Amino acid sequence: MSMRINEDRLAGPLEETTEVNNDSIGSATGATDLKFITPTELVDLPSRGQFYSSAHPLYNQDTIEIKHLTTKEEDILTSVTLLRKGMALDRMLQSIIVDNRIKVEDLLLGDKSALMVAARLHGYGSEYSTVITCARCEERQEYTFELNSLKLHFPEKDFMTKHQITGTDNGTFSFLLPNTQYTIEIRFLTGSDEKKLLENKEHRKKKNFPEATMSDFLRSVIISVNDIRDTSSINEFINTLPALQARYIRKIYEKLLPALDMTHSFNCASCEHEGVMEVPLTTDFFWSDTPIY
Ligand SMILES: [Zn+2]
Repeated sequence: MSMRINEDRLAGPLEETTEVNNDSIGSATGATDLKFITPTELVDLPSRGQFYSSAHPLYNQDTIEIKHLTTKEEDILTSVTLLRKGMALDRMLQSIIVDNRIKVEDLLLGDKSALMVAARLHGYGSEYSTVITCARCEERQEYTFELNSLKLHFPEKDFMTKHQITGTDNGTFSFLLPNTQYTIEIRFLTGSDEKKLLENKEHRKKKNFPEATMSDFLRSVIISVNDIRDTSSINEFINTLPALQARYIRKIYEKLLPALDMTHSFNCASCEHEGVMEVPLTTDFFWSDTPIY
């Protein structure tokens, strides 16, 4: 008798448990709901899509859509192998760009930096704290940059008129080099140009060759001199170019470059120095302390 009662008693809860299990299997099927829907964001392109070729997916596009950072990107950013190769940032950016026809290496550098800032801002907040060195007293100190306050910079008409710079249909610019007979045509650099410049720099370092930052830069940006596009002629021109003229070309390039204006006001904590400083896009840009809310 007692056995039967026990059996009955056991049977009851067992059945119930089975039912509960069925229920939980039901909600387990619904566990796909645990997946976050990654929000996306439209980021203003400093270039306004104007300096891409007509075949490029960003041609004449004002914005680019990016996903917010997820664990997947966090993994990329903390991957030791990628960090060593200096590839983590590019890989991370590629991973958040929604339109997979757009390749990071084809992005204009100003647009690429704007994407980095937007990703940092949405991922880890707009305050970026890093260690910087005061230009006057050389005191190292922690400084917090406000990424929300950065403004977009686009080639200004007044500046172009003043220096007789004309934009071409190919998204390049041409101007007369002062006190010479040379008309220089320059283009904006892309992610792959940046990569090549870095590789050249590392190669020279390994071989103990002197740095050639300026000539490497000029070789990348100058696409014609007096309509001559032949590489060896342009190289010869660059090698004989007076230093002052080289700096002029570099200055024009920097002034034209569509980009986020990364200058930020700076007040030194240990001396009275007040000035402006560029927000350093160093490696800790994505790795600085995360605020706990
Ligand atoms: Zn100082």
